[in-house]
Amino acid sequence: MPVPSDSFADFPARLTAVRARLAAACLAAGRNPADVELLPVTKNHPPAAAEAVAEARLRAVGENRVQEGVAKRAACTATGLAWELIGHLQSNKAALAAAHFDRVQSVDSEKLLRHLDHAAAVLGKVLPVLLQINAGDDPAKFGADLADAPRLLEVALAQPHLRVDGLMTVAPLGATPAETTAHAARTFSNLRGLRDGLAASFGVPLRELSMGMSADLEEAVTAGSTIVRVGTALFGGRLRG
Ligand SMILES: *Cc1c(COP(=O)(O)O)cnc(C)c1O
Repeated sequence: MPVPSDSFADFPARLTAVRARLAAACLAAGRNPADVELLPVTKNHPPAAAEAVAEARLRAVGENRVQEGVAKRAACTATGLAWELIGHLQSNKAALAAAHFDRVQSVDSEKLLRHLDHAAAVLGKVLPVLLQINAGDDPAKFGADLADAPRLLEVALAQPHLRVDGLMTVAPLGATPAETTAHAARTFSNLRGLRDGLAASFGVPLRELSMGMSADLEEAVTAGSTIVRVGTALFGGRLRG
């Protein structure tokens, strides 16, 4: 009997393949695969994608748009799955995001920090966040400039209803695959260096380094990524929905 294309019947095989890539990258880097979390990115896919993730017993999924994530979470029948926001967040949607996401990885301004802290206070919760840094100096990317990161962290640590887990970045694309790889390696090593410096000067662990996607997860693991956000390699092209 043919399987409908949106049932994600091929998800287990794709998951095995991505885990093999992660294991090989960890082996080459002398790292423990248990220290790199695979965060499936379900954006542009129906709730069944998140249900496949839950079935495979992964902890969480990533969504890049607030409304899409909120609607999908409500429609998803899987329980016990955490939802993380990884896409740009406007301050006027901070309350919605704080209410419906378990962590926000894309915090890139003092204004957004203050809005999220206020929203979390109203909800009576502490919201985990990552600070998004434009570590590749890409004019097309969101994220705070590297030079502004210390000030952003200082403000973040002063918010009583936020918990800063670490840093996140997206590498710029290059004109060729080789250039993209080079940009990724440079961007991720920048973020790692920034984290190490901030952790030392502020005396906080900043444990999480969320970096690496389908095309550059090897470079990310080499540079010390603890969370790779993978969409295409797990769910195929974003044609559904
Ligand atoms: C879409 C997206 C990803 C996943 O990208 P793929 O190339 O499909 O693996 C990761 N991070 C962010 C911020 C995204 O928007």
